[in-house]
Amino acid sequence: FNKKNVRGKEMLKINNIKMPVKHNENDLKNVVCKLYKINKNEIKSFEIAGQAIDARKKNNVVFVYAVNIELENKKKFENIKNIKKFEKQIYSISKIENFSENEKIKRPVVVGSGPAGIFAGLVMAEAGLKPIIIEQGKNVDERKKDVYNFFKTRKLNKYSNVQFGEGGAGTFSDGKLNTNTNNFRMQKIYDELILAGAEKKISYMSKPHIGTDKLIGIMKNIRKKIESLGGEYRFCTKLTKINYENNKLKEIEVEDLENEKKYTVSTNIAVLAIGHSARETFYMLNEQKVQMERKIFSVGVRIEHKQSMINRAQYGKFADKLPSAEYKLNVKTSNGRGVYTFCMCPGGVVVPSASEENRLVVNGMSYSKRNLENANSAILVNVFPDDFEGNSVLAGIEFQRKLEEKAFILGGSDYKAPVQLFGDFLNNKVSKKLGNVKPSYLADYKFADLNQIFPEYINSSLKEGITLMDKKIKGFANYDAILTGVESRSSSPVKIPRNEKFFANIEGIMPCGEGAGYAGGIMSAAVDGVKCAEFVVEYFKDLMSK
Ligand code: FAD
Repeated sequence: FNKKNVRGKEMLKINNIKMPVKHNENDLKNVVCKLYKINKNEIKSFEIAGQAIDARKKNNVVFVYAVNIELENKKKFENIKNIKKFEKQIYSISKIENFSENEKIKRPVVVGSGPAGIFAGLVMAEAGLKPIIIEQGKNVDERKKDVYNFFKTRKLNKYSNVQFGEGGAGTFSDGKLNTNTNNFRMQKIYDELILAGAEKKISYMSKPHIGTDKLIGIMKNIRKKIESLGGEYRFCTKLTKINYENNKLKEIEVEDLENEKKYTVSTNIAVLAIGHSARETFYMLNEQKVQMERKIFSVGVRIEHKQSMINRAQYGKFADKLPSAEYKLNVKTSNGRGVYTFCMCPGGVVVPSASEENRLVVNGMSYSKRNLENANSAILVNVFPDDFEGNSVLAGIEFQRKLEEKAFILGGSDYKAPVQLFGDFLNNKVSKKLGNVKPSYLADYKFADLNQIFPEYINSSLKEGITLMDKKIKGFANYDAILTGVESRSSSPVKIPRNEKFFANIEGIMPCGEGAGYAGGIMSAAVDGVKCAEFVVEYFKDLMSK
């Protein structure tokens, strides 16, 4: 496939334009025109293509920009440093005309409405395939009520929570769109998010984020678009079994959870965008002989500091003039394990993220303004398949479950989170009082000794790792930094291998997104959803031509 799905528009990209901390878009345009002697009348279009903060010199923090510019006369700008000719790419999928069901051809199904499922569904709908999207959780408005009710009353709804429901795991999050991938499909995702209500700047910031308050509306708008194109959502509908013949998918069995009714849906393809927390579904797939592999993942705790301390450490005297600062740290400890920060949420809160009864999980969330008192981040230690007991391919899930059960008990067995000051964690003692930093966990907390959750190699890695990180951010290992347990769902504990047609070992079963091991985060999950949709479209073209 690759760029076959993309149309181009010729432009110039100008890189490395430095601007002072205080400026606006007009100032930027003036600087570009002055630097390259461009007359404003010559400009057909001008847009920001990249924006980052360069804080390497604490006494001279600057913004660095890239801009895309369309000019009457491009020729005079050839061979100038920092200016490149390029084609701006606009994603489009080829449409399957007159798609309709018959004996042989059935509508494709997407299982899961997280970023992977939504973008798979959207691109399939744009191609005219009228996908059915099934989601075990509720629509985002109903889901929001259950989520906030859990924060308040600690009563868990096991299918409607921070992990499950419309929008998937990314909805009650920081909405960070950072990713290590650089894929031409990303522009499509930014464009759709912007059309659905995200700010335009997400398409050019080096570390874009949306915030949970905005994500909820965005999910609804994308759903409306999919429905307007002939797609269909079925909420509170859980995939419970797959039926296949001659190694080819025939139908799926689902349960309408509200009415406790089971029924089947005939289909040629089920895109499994089920996320990393779909434990019951992983067990079902394993029983149904879908091939899976154990994989590396990471576990640890959330750490919290005052955001003002992080701002000072990152931006020096500019701390009050810039948006809340971020960090990304990684160190290697003496036992050889990597320890790293993950999903850092500036000005955010620690969020109760359980999806199973009597098991406790935490994660991070922020609102679009990122203006709350604390900075939080996961501190994670790599764990390897050999660390898990037993031979089962699902041993990683059981490893996670044990940690979550211990955290639940340490918190008092009612979804309060176990919390400890970092200094007390170092000394293996239950904290008695808070220092300068107050825990932000949204469903109350209880002091406990987090050393009791993990095996010793994880405790020692966390202790050494956090201490080493203090060399990069002064104050990181302060005695009163808050640790909250347990962060166990950073990525999927399994991988479901795909063949050259993107199918698992059964034709028609298409593993997708983070749960299947092809993504880590909102953007890469969405990109994988788009990729899967492209394969689905090719499969149907082939099927219809026979
Ligand atoms: P998911 O989003 O997990 O979606 C899977 C969906 O499938 C779920 O809604 C689930 O209910 C449904 N499902 C599962 N099994 C079935 C079944 N049998 N039948 C029907 N439906 C089923 N990532 C970032 O990049 N930036 C962030 O700031 C960020 N913050 C986060 C904060 C929190 C609190 C959490 C929990 C995660 C955060 N993440 C963040 C991670 C990010 O949310 C995930 O990487 C991403 O959502 C994965 O997308 P996905 O579509 O593959 O799976």
